[in-house]
Amino acid sequence: MNNIYLDYAATTPLDPEVFLKMSPYFTEDFGNPSSIHSWGQMAEAALENARDSVADSLNCDAGEIVFTSGGSESDNLALRGTAFARREMTGANQILISPVEHPAVHETARQLQENFGFQLDMIPVDEFGRVIPAKLERMVDKKTAIVSVIYGNNEIGTINPVNELASICHLAGVPFHTDAVQAAAHLDLNMKNNSIDLMSIGAHKFYGPKGVGALFVGKGARLSPSQTGGKQESGMRAGTQNIPYIVGLSEALRITKRDLSINAGNMSRLRDKLINGVLDGVPDSILTGHPTERLPNHASFVFKHVSGNDLLMILDQRGFACSSGSACKVGEPKPSDVLVNLGLSPEWASGSLRVTLGRQTEEESIIEFLNILPEIVASLRR
Ligand SMILES: *Cc1c(COP(=O)(O)O)cnc(C)c1O
Repeated sequence: MNNIYLDYAATTPLDPEVFLKMSPYFTEDFGNPSSIHSWGQMAEAALENARDSVADSLNCDAGEIVFTSGGSESDNLALRGTAFARREMTGANQILISPVEHPAVHETARQLQENFGFQLDMIPVDEFGRVIPAKLERMVDKKTAIVSVIYGNNEIGTINPVNELASICHLAGVPFHTDAVQAAAHLDLNMKNNSIDLMSIGAHKFYGPKGVGALFVGKGARLSPSQTGGKQESGMRAGTQNIPYIVGLSEALRITKRDLSINAGNMSRLRDKLINGVLDGVPDSILTGHPTERLPNHASFVFKHVSGNDLLMILDQRGFACSSGSACKVGEPKPSDVLVNLGLSPEWASGSLRVTLGRQTEEESIIEFLNILPEIVASLRR
């Protein structure tokens, strides 16, 4: 029996075209971009070409891109760097996030609260996990150091109205960060069209290598570096740049942007077939997240009176790799905070399933999945 991967929100396979572009920088072109000699110059040219290419893909200036070790580090740098810099400059001491953030954002915010004396407040979301702009408007003011709201939700797929949220923050003079680690794989990110100040991306969610990311830092945004040392990345992130991975990120993002509309069209058609099939075929099932404002590859559900972990294990035995949506481990059957924050009771929230599609997903697999799921859920309820 062949295994079918339906967990592209967790990670994606490296695009072989991207791998080809990366490979010379491991061996022949190995220089340190900070060195003066020709090896160094070659590495620096590769680095700055990659930066130009990322800037092209995001429609921003190359000087606004900081390379990092991944989505988590970008989130950390954005929150910690802005919170410290703003408090130093203006005394602003409040952090506003949504209750449906990735741990890279909410755990960072929590540490800033617990160990560094910031005040942390949550912007309310609706039943679909979308931040309500009018609520943010009432909460944000001069004492706010940073606002951070996830763009496309990893657990429930919901897309937030980030351009509107960014405008509200801009009017209040407060920096706005968005975690676009999921969104970057599927949505057209055009930084000239919005007032987003900071935006995180990570390559392995869009068919690039793991362990590399970028932070868009708009002109005027002030950051205190969270990793100190050499003056790499305009002093915002010390450490010799990982040239092969940065080249990989830039190429993966270029290909993603090039094929965006074709892939989004194909995936959303399959996703809708999947969503309708599950809701029709499985009694006591609910779609989590927004019905239409959601990532094109993302389907997420809860099933009443089912253990999500058991469901994942049986699906895996039957050849389907899916997720519960959160980093909930076997033996820790606590329902996800995100689902509880949406108002789902434990009898529903413990039975979560996330199915995320990718470029390689075929319609056959979705049909097969829909054929076996209702019977598996029924057997788990017995
Ligand atoms: C995967 C993910 C991250 C973390 O990115 P890494 O590159 O794995 O560190 C952060 N935010 C969201 C929304 C993600 O999906």
